[in-house]
Amino acid sequence: LASNDWKKQPTVVNVKDVEIGSKKVIVAAGPCAVESEEQVLTTAKAVKRAGASLLRGGAYKPRTSPYSFQGIGEEGVKILRRVGDEVGLPIVTEIMDTRDSTIFTQYVDMIQIGARNAQNFSLLKEVGKLGKPVLLKRGMGNTVEEWLQAAEYILLEGNGNTVLCERGIRTFEKSTRFTLDIGGMVAAKLMTHLPICADPSHPAGKRELVHSLALAAVAAGADMLLVEVHPHPEKALSDSEQQLTPESFEVLMDRIRALARAL
Ligand code: PEP
Ligand code: MN
Repeated sequence: LASNDWKKQPTVVNVKDVEIGSKKVIVAAGPCAVESEEQVLTTAKAVKRAGASLLRGGAYKPRTSPYSFQGIGEEGVKILRRVGDEVGLPIVTEIMDTRDSTIFTQYVDMIQIGARNAQNFSLLKEVGKLGKPVLLKRGMGNTVEEWLQAAEYILLEGNGNTVLCERGIRTFEKSTRFTLDIGGMVAAKLMTHLPICADPSHPAGKRELVHSLALAAVAAGADMLLVEVHPHPEKALSDSEQQLTPESFEVLMDRIRALARAL
């Protein structure tokens, strides 16, 4: 169902009035994690002004260490909803557990499946049933084929509104947090009709690298970007090193628009 052989026309995924996979590169931006209403509101206003189309933020956070900040859960989803409505941006946030699905159907516009759950098949099937657009990350150890097969689980439940997101894979290279697989992203684009997103923030690991990875992904044909932005990155409770300031995000948006015009 995800394959080009089955469906030749590119799929456009609608998240409220935002069209992903149409001409324009769609940018989702916001903090790694929802920390407070004020933090999300400040960020949302800034990214909206800069030209973002969606607000991102994690409420349920899949942290490597159980001692790290775990996110504020349901309250975080409600904050995103309020802020999204106030500012006028649809929201995308990650689900980690099928037991939370009613919260997501009630409050969320686009449901993210994180890299660590990319092959959680019961979660994929459940999310496929919820009737909401899905942003499916590639597992950090998954081949392109495995990534497309994960999407197949969602599509099989009748949900074709799925966007694939390349977020970097594990390689021997340590100078970046993960290796953004631009080649794999392009290969996936040739194999599927689904729109493709790139997350330049998590593979970068350091904010100095984020602009270049984002621009590389756009140059390579990404339909969407997912970018972490925090009003005070140095104080962020998660992924502090890689989040952009609102000022830097504004510059990035200018650079993306200039590049898109040149393509
Ligand atoms: C995220 O986007 O918030 C996130 C946790 O990313 P990933 O699943 O790609 O690590
Ligand atoms: Mn993060």
